[in-house]
Amino acid sequence: MSLNVRNYNNKEMLLFPACIGDYLPKGHFAKVIDDVVEHLDLNCLYKKVSSVGNPSYHPKMMLKILFYGYATSAFSSRKIAKELETDVAFIFLAGMQKPDFRTISDFRKNNAEELPKLFVQIVRLCEKLGLVGLGHISLDSTVIKANASKDKTYDEERLILEGQAINKKIKELLDSAQAIDDEEDKIFGPDLRGDEIPEELHSQEKRLEKIKEAKKKLKEESLKALNLTDPDATFQKQKSQITTGYRAEVAVDGKEQVIVACDCINEANDTKQLIPLIEQTAHNLPEISEREKVKVSADSGFSSIRNLKELESKIYIDAYIPDVKYQAQQRGNLTDEDSPFHKKHFVYNSEKDAYLCPNHRELTFGYRYIDERGRKLSRYSCHQCQDCKYLSRCTKSPKGRTIKVFDNVNLIYAMRQKLNTAHGKRIYSKRKVIPEPVFGNIKHNLRFREFLLRGLKKVRAEFTLMAIVHNIKKIAKYLRKLLLFKLPREDLIPLAVA
Ligand code: SF4
Repeated sequence: MSLNVRNYNNKEMLLFPACIGDYLPKGHFAKVIDDVVEHLDLNCLYKKVSSVGNPSYHPKMMLKILFYGYATSAFSSRKIAKELETDVAFIFLAGMQKPDFRTISDFRKNNAEELPKLFVQIVRLCEKLGLVGLGHISLDSTVIKANASKDKTYDEERLILEGQAINKKIKELLDSAQAIDDEEDKIFGPDLRGDEIPEELHSQEKRLEKIKEAKKKLKEESLKALNLTDPDATFQKQKSQITTGYRAEVAVDGKEQVIVACDCINEANDTKQLIPLIEQTAHNLPEISEREKVKVSADSGFSSIRNLKELESKIYIDAYIPDVKYQAQQRGNLTDEDSPFHKKHFVYNSEKDAYLCPNHRELTFGYRYIDERGRKLSRYSCHQCQDCKYLSRCTKSPKGRTIKVFDNVNLIYAMRQKLNTAHGKRIYSKRKVIPEPVFGNIKHNLRFREFLLRGLKKVRAEFTLMAIVHNIKKIAKYLRKLLLFKLPREDLIPLAVA
């Protein structure tokens, strides 16, 4: 009896062998990666290919499988090597070649410095495809866990205690080795024994060496704590959680959420990143400086008087960046500025270079100085506070009130005024919807929640890889849209690159 089924034979030979790519649907992400990488200038990678010995795998192929790996949450080189055996998209991108995991890992490690150059090319490709509007750029950061255990983070006290414990252990091991030697001397005579150092002693000595290095680094860099697994990782606070990790920084264009600048830092806040991210954006997309006032928004973590002062020289930027206290007030929290005796309620008299307090008494100029954070400020003091009925509310000092006035503090107040307008509120309200989906995509969709590599340099490269993959996903989404509306897309990338 014959079965009413379709003819099935999975061992049948094809008359005309198909291209592996034919097994992937049109518009598949692997095909977009293939297209994009084919049109990148990879000279920076080609220069590193050795002209002697066995031929290397083609950097183009290695890059494609690395990009596809990070786009499909196959971050480890072992996982990528495994996928090369079974996954059609990987097999297609590799052209059926099978580099082992060590080769993949070495390629990623050896080309870490080239990734930012490729990132720039991808950003420019996005711009040529019309995915970057340069109307509104928003800056943000997120904490990503380091490849390091929190338990391996040591402060100075813990390092000292650990060092003492190891020294004790080493002494015990040496004593026990000596006891064995003495025993063997009695049996074999002093000339016949071998000086076997117990293996554990080596590992304890290595550990002690690590602790000494960590103590030195803590002292030299004035750090409070240090992780022994990844010494570059630092304690990072996000919301109420403390993580041993890094801060991933991005500048995102508002049109299609393309990342136009990125970096990774091991500092505890974002203040020093505002200007570098803006300058990196201007480097990646030079036409920004010809634009009329590109809106830049960032949260209070990026605010400082120094930043606002530096932005004055970047005339193509129209910034919307609240300071910490303003942001707290907007959230309904009380700050010291809510006190009627806060210095912002003291009125300046430029002719006298003096301030008038709420009780109409004068604070005269004392001296100027630079604080520990390098900020310039002036100090003013009141010499008529003793009989003031507000003394206890105004100051804790029995000598009377003094105020410190930072240079250019007026820039903070001017920014507040701008943010308080309907226009300012509207622009700033867009900040949340521009960069946050980017981190949502990277951490949630791509499941990149922990770095695989260790050390700031490698971590930077790894995050650049993620930013590249995020942007290629944006290109893929755009091309899929064209496919949906049956618009021509085949020559789009070569045209954009040309
Ligand atoms: S304590 Fe001094 S500065 Fe404060 S309100 Fe009184 S007089 Fe003015």
